[in-house]
Amino acid sequence: MSKNQYAVIGLGRFGTSIARRLHEAGQEVLGIDINEESVENAEPYVTDSAIADASEEKALASLGIRNFDCVIVAIGDDIQSSILTAMLLKNLGIKKIIAKATSKRHGQVLETIGVHWIIYPERDMGERVANQLLSPNMLNY
Ligand code: ATP
Repeated sequence: MSKNQYAVIGLGRFGTSIARRLHEAGQEVLGIDINEESVENAEPYVTDSAIADASEEKALASLGIRNFDCVIVAIGDDIQSSILTAMLLKNLGIKKIIAKATSKRHGQVLETIGVHWIIYPERDMGERVANQLLSPNMLNY
């Protein structure tokens, strides 16, 4: 598999599990969080890390975010930060932006900004579980 450069913004459970899986698969992963403790916890699972407010244009620029193939915005609760960050990434011309949405309205705003892939973790996971339950023989062993 070719090596890509990923940045994961927001190192809660969601962001850290994405970073960890990508890193295990040999990809370059920069983990970013505004909170020092979150960055420290994620350090074993990333190639590089930074404490930064991703909703600040200067902070993103100083991290060279422009050069990344894919940026994942894994900020959920702070909707304003999520939206501002996604907008800055879009303006910087990032080729693939993925973002987590915590509500339909949040997702609609991310869509308007032009985020390429919007993830609704609970809804998407629920659908996945139901699909697995519907697959043949799932309940017959
Ligand atoms: P999860 O459900 O994934 O565990 P969470 O409930 O811990 O998430 P969220 O509000 O979804 O918290 O945010 C995820 C992470 O994003 C947190 O670790 C938080 O510190 C970080 N974060 C929030 N705002 C910013 C920002 N402006 N810049 C960088 N990181 C941020």
